Amino acid sequence: MYITWFKIWSNQICNSVVPLYDIKVDVTFPLLYTASCLTKNLYQTPRLPKTGETIHGDKFLIGFGGKGANQCIQAARLGAKTTMICKVGKDFFGDNYIQNFKDNGVHTGKIKSENAIVIVAGANMLLSNEELQTALPAISHAKVMVCQLEINPQTSLQALQMAQESKVKTIFNPAPAIPDLDAGFYKASDVFCCNETEAELLTGSSVTNVEEACGAAQELLKRGCGAVIITLGPQGCVVLKEQKSTSDHVPTTAVTAVDTTGAGDSFIGALAFYMAHYPTMPLEEMARRANQVAVVSVQAFGTQTSYPFRASLPDELF
Ligand code: ATP
Repeated sequence: MYITWFKIWSNQICNSVVPLYDIKVDVTFPLLYTASCLTKNLYQTPRLPKTGETIHGDKFLIGFGGKGANQCIQAARLGAKTTMICKVGKDFFGDNYIQNFKDNGVHTGKIKSENAIVIVAGANMLLSNEELQTALPAISHAKVMVCQLEINPQTSLQALQMAQESKVKTIFNPAPAIPDLDAGFYKASDVFCCNETEAELLTGSSVTNVEEACGAAQELLKRGCGAVIITLGPQGCVVLKEQKSTSDHVPTTAVTAVDTTGAGDSFIGALAFYMAHYPTMPLEEMARRANQVAVVSVQAFGTQTSYPFRASLPDELF
């Protein structure tokens, strides 16, 4: 979907937050995103600028971000009790970030609640293994743990393994993708959920359609995860479970999309919600419903701002 990512280092965002900006250029819509791990800044422009060119934008929007945060907010908006494990700076940005979680009903302190989804994510590479140990009570009482690669990969892996040892279901989203992913991630994933680009990077094979995604899912499953989901934008996703020899294509509804950024996080947040609340539901059905949640998110601008609340969704999704 995106033609390029630039990474720009800055030291002015947040005192304890990794000062990394990603700039995404969307080829489908004339939108530019700059994103730190904390916020996403959206500029709507009449066209994509040429290299070195400055153009005026029509719309500017700042939203909260970070993959883990997005996933957590989506799960919470569907009604899940969620806990976020992350680290933010002691400053205006960090305070706002925490307030956004509170506003969405996400636990931000030391968590004692049961029936929780725990998201280890975020905003920084400074979350250490020692700090993660202090979150063990929250992790071991959760139903689902969701991890990505926006923190130190070893911390993410340790979190997944801690969850598995406590019989907590794990979802791993290998994003932003790294080519030489530690083999332990596959074994620590009950559901390994990635998009086409990540699947392509991890398997070294082209993943541009349903058939190729089915092949990539087979390859990823062989590496030891319990199930694989590869999201395919407007084509929905493919699902492959270890008990099955062939993948299921789970299509989604055709809509006029205005901004697909963050759709993958909406999908994963919804998936986490279904895994926590309907543990016996077939994974294909969870994916079908997660498609229906994510399809709402692509019809509005922004990332978290486009994520639906339970009350606005049809009853059949619950
Ligand atoms: P991002 O990185 O922007 O979060 P992604 O590339 O990880 O997105 P996609 O595969 O593009 O994720 O989309 C995730 C899900 O969102 C899809 O499986 C689908 O359910 C829904 N979706 C995305 N784009 C569209 C679209 N144009 N029309 C309908 N549904 C869509």
